[in-house]
Amino acid sequence: MVLSVSLALSLRLALLSALRVRAVDPIIRPASNHSCFSACSLLAERFPSQVHSSGTPLYAAFEGSFWSLQQAETPPYCVFRPESAPEVSAAIRTARQTQCLFAVRSGGHAAFSGASNAPNGLTIDLRGLNEVALSDDNTIAHIGTGNTWYEVYSTLQPSNLAVIGGRVAAIGVGGLTTGGGISFFSNLHGWACDNVQNYEVVTASGDILQVNISSCPDLYYALRGGGPNFGIVTRFDLFTYPLPQGLMWGGTLAYLMNYSSSILAAFTDFGMNVQSDPNAALIVAYAYYGGQYLASVDLEYAKPSADPTIFNSFKAIPWLQDSTGIKTLANITLEFNASNPSGLRETYWTATYQLNYTMASYIIDIFIEETNPVANATGILPACVLQVITTDQLSQMSKYGGNALGLSSTQPLILLNLAYMWENVEDDKRIIQACQNIIKRTVAKSREWGLAEDYLYMNYASQFQDVVPSYGKENHEKLLDVARKYDPEGVFQKLQPGYFKLNRNPKSSR
Ligand SMILES: Cc1cc2nc3c(=O)[nH]c(=O)nc-3n(C[C@H](O)[C@H](O)[C@H](O)COP(=O)(O)OP(=O)(O)OC[C@H]3O[C@@H](n4cnc5c(N)ncnc54)[C@H](O)[C@@H]3O)c2cc1C
Repeated sequence: MVLSVSLALSLRLALLSALRVRAVDPIIRPASNHSCFSACSLLAERFPSQVHSSGTPLYAAFEGSFWSLQQAETPPYCVFRPESAPEVSAAIRTARQTQCLFAVRSGGHAAFSGASNAPNGLTIDLRGLNEVALSDDNTIAHIGTGNTWYEVYSTLQPSNLAVIGGRVAAIGVGGLTTGGGISFFSNLHGWACDNVQNYEVVTASGDILQVNISSCPDLYYALRGGGPNFGIVTRFDLFTYPLPQGLMWGGTLAYLMNYSSSILAAFTDFGMNVQSDPNAALIVAYAYYGGQYLASVDLEYAKPSADPTIFNSFKAIPWLQDSTGIKTLANITLEFNASNPSGLRETYWTATYQLNYTMASYIIDIFIEETNPVANATGILPACVLQVITTDQLSQMSKYGGNALGLSSTQPLILLNLAYMWENVEDDKRIIQACQNIIKRTVAKSREWGLAEDYLYMNYASQFQDVVPSYGKENHEKLLDVARKYDPEGVFQKLQPGYFKLNRNPKSSR
């Protein structure tokens, strides 16, 4: 095996930088250097311009491309950038052959370290899989996993079409869709995973399968929310929907905290009654910013109709700022991207509760109580985000044989997303503890009040949360069966340890 001098040097530098990272973050278990040296060398021989190691400009650009600092701080032994499904297959076969631990990256927006960047292992960067094409009859969009949602929406806009995907420009197609995927249009059509007609998947054996309800119904079910436990999806074939000129209505209203009770009453009322106009969608966020707590409400409407009446109660509350208007879908995602800068330390947490005004108020009270002691952390921007999993969304989840998420409630639910960003590693422990306290206290209260719901949304969960078991015993067992069939050796459980496994959370994988 011939290894170029520069690659060999780069690999040594990667090892050194991995050792530096281990000193900072002791929870990260490094891959075996020998196995990943072999994996990177084998791939570099076959694809010399697509393997990048420490010390090269492309490797440095790769490390800087993650949303969270924690992910950027876990340098892989090398990065492989495939450009086709057969090249992804080559990567899986090589990882198996060498037993090198790997991670897979699409948009790189998972928050915790190792989720989509393998510390001292092989990171498979899927951004070269960036097809966006329409079927002849325009009913299906073939979307490569490496696209961001902005790229998808802006490419489909001239055809007056949209798909069900993310609400922030830079989020990747791959992670959002394999974990679920909440869209502005979910009250009309369901979550992203409920709008996939076909998945192109590379399985643990390296086979490339077309997975749909007819070809492999069990794997199709598992991919709809089961995360990266069954294969690497290279292309999503998504149902399209008309959106003339890409136009809709949306934006943000910002409020002072004095109006919190009116905001939460309007939020609860919206969640209970949105089936009267499923074009509407809503996100409520409370954040500590500039020395005070503020509230904001993102309102969206799937048609270019100014000030839809369903939002009247929010418009009636005295606001500080109103950015709502008729805009393109692509531009709304850019607007929301601006409030989610990259390069900071990040943590995401989640919980689900039955929709109830008192529960929502309690969550906000506990958010403030637990955030106050950490509010002096440098650069902190803590947010408590409330959404409704509406009855319309819940009923869409049974389409095409049903998804894997196990959400069987007939009542609307509150979906909580705690999203904290800050600057210094020294503050990690106390901020993570504050988030953990909020989850523990609010979940305990929801049990006491008979408002508990076990479901954890993978895309908002922390590395300490047990996502897949939260889908319920029956779904969990079904998912384990599917994994045994398509991945009998447990390649995605053992060699890809960084994200939510079928029986483990990422923290306990390390
Ligand atoms: C600013 C921001 C806005 C967000 N907005 C939304 C939103 O509107 N709606 C919503 O539902 N969620 C939203 N999320 C959550 C988001 O869905 C998750 O963070 C998601 O994991 C990001 O996907 P990604 O491809 O960018 O991430 P990555 O970090 O690249 O991937 C996340 C996980 O998925 C795996 N993965 C990625 N691609 C594939 C693939 N093709 N095959 C198999 N596994 C794969 C990775 O290995 C990794 O484990 C948002 C998150 C952020 C930070």
